[in-house]
Amino acid sequence: MSVKTAFLIAAAALPLTLSGCGSMESLGSEQDIIASAAQSCQKLDAKSQITTRYDARMRVIRQGLPEVVNGQTLNYKVYQTKDMNAFAMPNGCVRVYSALLDRLNNDEVRAVLGHEIGHVALRHSVQQYRTNNGVALGMSAANAIGSALGLGGGTGSDLLERVTYSAISAQYSQRLETEADNYSVDLLLHEKNGRQKALAMASALRKISTEGQGSTMLQKMFGDHPDTADRIKNVEDRVKASGIK
Ligand SMILES: [Zn+2]
Repeated sequence: MSVKTAFLIAAAALPLTLSGCGSMESLGSEQDIIASAAQSCQKLDAKSQITTRYDARMRVIRQGLPEVVNGQTLNYKVYQTKDMNAFAMPNGCVRVYSALLDRLNNDEVRAVLGHEIGHVALRHSVQQYRTNNGVALGMSAANAIGSALGLGGGTGSDLLERVTYSAISAQYSQRLETEADNYSVDLLLHEKNGRQKALAMASALRKISTEGQGSTMLQKMFGDHPDTADRIKNVEDRVKASGIK
């Protein structure tokens, strides 16, 4: 989930488009990236306070969403934390922060999960890590937020660190964020009450960008960004264009 992406990109003074950048020699196969994600996820779980308090609600919210994506079975846990965030890794590790569940309704959380599943389904991390920007952004993210997350100040020098920081800081490009929003919207539009379900993506973004400006360092740094307004408009336009009532 990222209302933060553009900040990181601005901070690193890097171009927004990935397509124009030449790929470096392979930074690892998709299997390597998936293996790193699995390690990374384990590491984060070990350092986080995992709560089962929301499990019953999460089961309700997840009902009907894809369970296996790109051959990876999605695996959910909730971290007890004040940040409003969620992330997904290419090995199917999906983590939701408790503050998000406290502040969003079920439809909104579902839309966020659809977005996260979209990043996995569309292989965004694989795309991201294989570009020059992926490396540079990984480093900037590590520097910017590494210590704030209590994970040590990473240097972004290995694949594991990049996978970790990229996932938590949700530093995908605006284009990839929009693609993940669209994936979620299209998924939800086909459900019963599809229009209402899909528009929950817009209200989730709105809440995260406003209520997300809370007390933690991460929220202060990344809470609000004009790109969020563009993403909200994109969601609303897409729902409208679908003609689904
Ligand atoms: Zn995202």
